[in-house]
Amino acid sequence: MLKRTHTCGELRISDVGKTVILNGWVDRIRDLGGILFILLRDRYGITQIVFEPSNIEVYEMAKELGPEYVIGIRGKVRKRPDEAMNPKIPTGEIEVIVDEMEIFSKSKIPPIYVNREDDTSEEMRMRYRYLDLRREGMKKNLLLRHEMAVFVRNFFNERDFVEIETPILTKSTPEGARDFLVPSRLKPGRFYALPQSPQLFKQILMISGFDRYYQLARCFRDEDFRADRQPEFTQVDVEMSFVEREDVLDLAEDLFVELIRKFKGIELEKPFRRFTYVDVMERYGSDKPITVFEHELKDLSDLFKETDFKVFRNVLEKGGVVKGLFVEKKHTRGEIGKLEDELKRKGAKGLVWFILDGGEVRSPVMKFLSESEVRSLLERMETKDRDGTIFMVADEERMHVNELLGILRSKFEKEFAEKEDFLDVFWVIDFPMFEWSEEEGRIVANHHPFTMPNSEDLERYEDDPLKIRALSYDLVVNGYEILSGSIRIHDRKIQEKVFNILGIDEKEAKERFGFFLEALEYGVPPHGGFAIGFDRLVAVIAGERSIRDVIAFPKTTSGVDLMTGAPSEVRKEQLEELGIDVKIGSDDL
Ligand code: ASP
Repeated sequence: MLKRTHTCGELRISDVGKTVILNGWVDRIRDLGGILFILLRDRYGITQIVFEPSNIEVYEMAKELGPEYVIGIRGKVRKRPDEAMNPKIPTGEIEVIVDEMEIFSKSKIPPIYVNREDDTSEEMRMRYRYLDLRREGMKKNLLLRHEMAVFVRNFFNERDFVEIETPILTKSTPEGARDFLVPSRLKPGRFYALPQSPQLFKQILMISGFDRYYQLARCFRDEDFRADRQPEFTQVDVEMSFVEREDVLDLAEDLFVELIRKFKGIELEKPFRRFTYVDVMERYGSDKPITVFEHELKDLSDLFKETDFKVFRNVLEKGGVVKGLFVEKKHTRGEIGKLEDELKRKGAKGLVWFILDGGEVRSPVMKFLSESEVRSLLERMETKDRDGTIFMVADEERMHVNELLGILRSKFEKEFAEKEDFLDVFWVIDFPMFEWSEEEGRIVANHHPFTMPNSEDLERYEDDPLKIRALSYDLVVNGYEILSGSIRIHDRKIQEKVFNILGIDEKEAKERFGFFLEALEYGVPPHGGFAIGFDRLVAVIAGERSIRDVIAFPKTTSGVDLMTGAPSEVRKEQLEELGIDVKIGSDDL
């Protein structure tokens, strides 16, 4: 075998005269009739190799080469003629004149372009992922991902953290999503669950005295995939003992300062900005807004207390609120109609709007409003003579108004984010401990049930649990919840209280988390931690919108691996061994 002496990204003008061996893929072939130029590619770069007819045997062989053939060549490095220099690639000053070649393997014509960015469908890219991963963009992303993983590991290793693996075949963990189940052959009728996160294990490691733990952990959640979720994903999972919230936030800030400095060349300032959950909802209508998109929700209730416009007045008389959002985009009636329909589906009673157009204000509700009301509206919304649209929502429920305007705001945010390059980093703290789940018709934990509630709130609002705040926190980066965590409960009594509020009785608690409750009785350090969504973090740093572009082998939004065909049917005997009878055939799906 012609074994490489150099990579395809390595040779420089100083190597001229050397005899070298290169291995790689045929990237591009240029046949100048009489002389043949080939770009040879490997992970490290591209080198031009030249076949001259004077070496007739090799020249004839070379004429048979096609794109993506894998070859080895031996030849002499020479300086390219001045007019053939290519300053765009590091090896652009030299070329290698081939005197010997070995074809390691041939390739069919690739169904997607490897050496050119084009609009090949993502389906084709996922089906032929091995070809897709040869592309420059994907290669760069995976190398970046690797470097970031190394960086993160070093960061924690240097600070006395220990990476400890936790099981994949385990018992249901409490992140609030559906579990993936794995049937047990040895215990027929029983199932393992794949971990939604290592949450309970990392807390148990604290109880075990490990003090500072981290892991690049694979997590699994069987959700109906929204556009950019994966059924399996990677978290940088962290837990530490003898700490309070400030200690955890401080460590996470150090990590992000160093990481952003290294990979973005931007200096973040500590401490990061902080919003409480209520604050961020009041101002942006979302718990993960993009705040560099300046437009905020404004409370207009005081301006319309005496108004003749009944819709507002009625709501305000019942103690409700009127809030508004201004954006610099003049909407058409059709566009507004669509937005209104969408908000109505989310429970809005209506959407009031004003178009500002060259100093003129148009709205179907103009006739109900006084001139001074309109004037104070424009002033409060800080429209500053700009053209655009003001949207207003009124409702008795304050948070509902925030959420509805937040839905609109997030649409404009997205348009903004597509055009601008920015870095927007801040904490959201003081989330509610519990929330009402419409779907389940009961109270659920907003983070997870092992989060420490604010102790004063817990005493004060035991009968009104939705008012209890939690010692939890999210780090929001460019509109994504990149990190999420909390201080945990280390006292079994508080844990029981929380289960009580969640309607989990003793029997259920024992069944689901008995092992953990038992562990809580054997000496627990105060502890807390967080998990970082690693895929999303890499995507943000890489400037990719989709996390699929930073995952080597991702699944589609319907959870299918287009390359392997998973999930697939299995052999009858396999099912029999497991004692499983499948009622739905794939034809029924
Ligand atoms: N286990 C949590 C999650 O996956 C993170 C944490 O609280 O550390 O969101």
